[in-house]
Amino acid sequence: MSTESGIWMSGDGRSPRAGRSPGKLTAEIHEEALALLCDLLRIDTTNPPGNERPAAELCAEALRAEGLEPKLLEGAKDRTNLICRYRGTGELPPLMLTAHLDVVPPGDGWTHPPFEARIVDGWLYGRGAIDMKNHVAMCVTVLRALAREKARLRRDVLLVLVADEEAGCTWGSEWLVRNHADKIRAEYALGEIGGFPLHMEGRRIYPIQVAQKGVLWLRARTRGEGGHGSMPRERTAVGDLVRAVSRLVRRPMPIEVTPPAREFLDALAAQLGPKGAALRALSRPWLARAVLRALPDRSLARTLRALLSNTVTVNVLRAGEKTNVIPRAAEAEIDCRTLPGKAGEKAMQQIRDRVGPEVEFEVLQQAPAVEFTSKTPLFESLAAAIRRADPEAVVIPYMIPGFTDALAFAHNGTTCYGFTPVYLPEGVVFADLYHNVDERIWVEGFHFGLELLYDAVRTFCAEG
Ligand SMILES: [Zn+2]
Repeated sequence: MSTESGIWMSGDGRSPRAGRSPGKLTAEIHEEALALLCDLLRIDTTNPPGNERPAAELCAEALRAEGLEPKLLEGAKDRTNLICRYRGTGELPPLMLTAHLDVVPPGDGWTHPPFEARIVDGWLYGRGAIDMKNHVAMCVTVLRALAREKARLRRDVLLVLVADEEAGCTWGSEWLVRNHADKIRAEYALGEIGGFPLHMEGRRIYPIQVAQKGVLWLRARTRGEGGHGSMPRERTAVGDLVRAVSRLVRRPMPIEVTPPAREFLDALAAQLGPKGAALRALSRPWLARAVLRALPDRSLARTLRALLSNTVTVNVLRAGEKTNVIPRAAEAEIDCRTLPGKAGEKAMQQIRDRVGPEVEFEVLQQAPAVEFTSKTPLFESLAAAIRRADPEAVVIPYMIPGFTDALAFAHNGTTCYGFTPVYLPEGVVFADLYHNVDERIWVEGFHFGLELLYDAVRTFCAEG
């Protein structure tokens, strides 16, 4: 595949690049990026255990080939992080590009094997194709391209590839911030989730992530008398847990419209004409639930619901070992995601109020939400780069319901935006590809994203 023969010229013209002049990167670099992505997808970095070292080494080798000097850093064996700097003049503080090397377990039911990087009908399949080895390959390629052309920049471009994001960042971004804060200091970071099109009402809306929800992972435990299964007790640990879990999931958490959610909803509503009215109604808590129920796009409704309340899902249940033995304890693991500010601080109490007094809690992981202003030169510059790639693009600030490495980097004083550009054709929802079977990336969309990322990074670091 080459630029001349038509990376941008897909016969059906589905990408906004189709038919437009080639980008700034050479066809050779695009091919190298895709090959690197395929090689990364063939390395199994399922977390746990992670074992990110081979993926980090592959990236290091690609960087060394351009004369760059990557460093590999580990807090635990084979939980490898990579740092590499493309030096600017130092007039301005660095811009970080960051991505995680690990992936979630593939699970069953794939149409194409999850670690073989097969391209079928223009789509590249593999665990990590969109979350987020695509961005690993793109970031490495951007540094390689800058080095190859000896670009003169006013900021350093700092590449930080991390381990262990999918299990809570312990050996990755958190470990780096705790142990090597100086090596990863940057004014801004571009990391996970943002810069892809949402197709709505004939428009292409590109969210750039400026906020993310916090996390509160809990283990809930009930205790009771043990004994023989043939002689039931009135109350058991299992019975108490099941009742508690059922109360928790049946009673929804209250709707609370936080400032980043309002900014996102207003910006989106402004683009959607009369249909925007439904989104505006979401800012009124008493109307929101009915609007969410009525939205025909269920994927959108799920996302919006998550942006408007603390959420809980109960994802692990554990009790007993034998059919005829009443266990003395039962456990559930609860994934709670918290809103920014005061709303998030209330989450623990909201959960306790629902489950009742017989449940004990252990906090497994906790971090507050993070939010950044969209009123920065970088946000403006990213928006301009998106519009250069897709002249009809509408760019809006966005809060994601999940968390990323930005939680850790924010503690290091870095303003973090989600910007992992990729083009997806209409009908494919970015969020639905995440952690799902048949995770895949549209190859043309990958090239679109690479060109956009390169343009955005180069322009911002050369100018502002
Ligand atoms: Zn991810």
